[in-house]
Amino acid sequence: MTAASLATSTSTNKQVVLASRPTKSARLDHFRIESIAVPEPADGEVLLRTIYLSVDPYLLRVIKGVQTYAPIDPGDAIFGRTICEVVHSRHPSFAPGDSVFLFAKWQNFQVAHGDKLKKVDTSLIPASAYLSVMGHSALTAWGGLLDVGQPKAGETVVVSAAAGAVGSVAGQIARIKGCRAVGIAGGQAKCDHVVNFLGFDACVDYRSPTFAADLRAAVPGGIDVYFENVGGVVFDTVLSMLNHSARVPLCGLASHYNEDKPITLHHWGQMLAKLVRIQTFRVSDYLPRIDEAMLDIKRWYLEGRLKYHESVTHGIENAPAAFVDMLSGANPGKKLVKLA
Ligand code: NDP
Repeated sequence: MTAASLATSTSTNKQVVLASRPTKSARLDHFRIESIAVPEPADGEVLLRTIYLSVDPYLLRVIKGVQTYAPIDPGDAIFGRTICEVVHSRHPSFAPGDSVFLFAKWQNFQVAHGDKLKKVDTSLIPASAYLSVMGHSALTAWGGLLDVGQPKAGETVVVSAAAGAVGSVAGQIARIKGCRAVGIAGGQAKCDHVVNFLGFDACVDYRSPTFAADLRAAVPGGIDVYFENVGGVVFDTVLSMLNHSARVPLCGLASHYNEDKPITLHHWGQMLAKLVRIQTFRVSDYLPRIDEAMLDIKRWYLEGRLKYHESVTHGIENAPAAFVDMLSGANPGKKLVKLA
């Protein structure tokens, strides 16, 4: 019996394909599900069963054709971060049952060369965490907050999309560093989660008509570091409350991914007088420091100082819906799809 027939004796191989490019927000009809054959691994390759797909905001820019490195065109399989399990190995470093991280297609089974795989240790940490609190979301928060934000104990750090995968870690690291952490999130339920589960000092609902006043009340001494994930009105409101020499790690602009509206910033003029430093960064800037970052993150996680929450959708057929829901901010935490 071949590896493929072994793997598929009880399963089929389905794939999420980009049917057409969204121009504004992503809809379910921009995707389709196709059935494909299970590939056979060649020498040096392994057959993988996909366990988790990471559902990330950047993907919208990729399928719109705005972000052009690693492009995805109509007719291509969606591609992203995954955790897979080795089903059959023709590489000496891997055995069936090993869990691995790799950039891979959104499909149930695939082959990859063993040299491209990174084994993950699931003895103390669940496999899914390598897509969130032990993965790129945490590295983004670690690099953006500590390197760009340079928070000092006693300062006030504000984080937008605070209930999300990156924001939740950024705010908790701020607390670990002795700062006052104030989150901004959409809706009371998410704000409750940010304070009661993640341990932020306060959280403000940006959808409330009293948002600006609520934020001002939550930061009586102003804002020293603003970890920016969303842009738009939230960004503009925060700009008016930044202290002299504040730092703004500009991580993402999620509110602009669905719509290509121009950004109107009424408080931009104050930035020069206040000597505010606004700096963009990419998670890839910190890949050379990933071991250092993961030492910190793993220690804080095992000490119980870094919590994480996952919103898990089941089944590859539901992956497009998980992506659309993630962009609308439907659930807190890291958005994942579990396939097996
Ligand atoms: P999240 O899990 O935080 O999901 C995105 C969140 O953005 C939503 O849950 C929603 O939260 C919020 N949001 C969406 N639309 C709006 C809006 N109109 N106004 C305010 N908030 C909105 O995603 P991630 O944690 O994965 O990513 C967070 C940010 O970090 C994104 O901008 C992403 O692109 C960026 N990023 C950047 C990286 C880099 O290398 N620079 C790497 C990884 C991520 P809510 O319900 O609270 O509104």
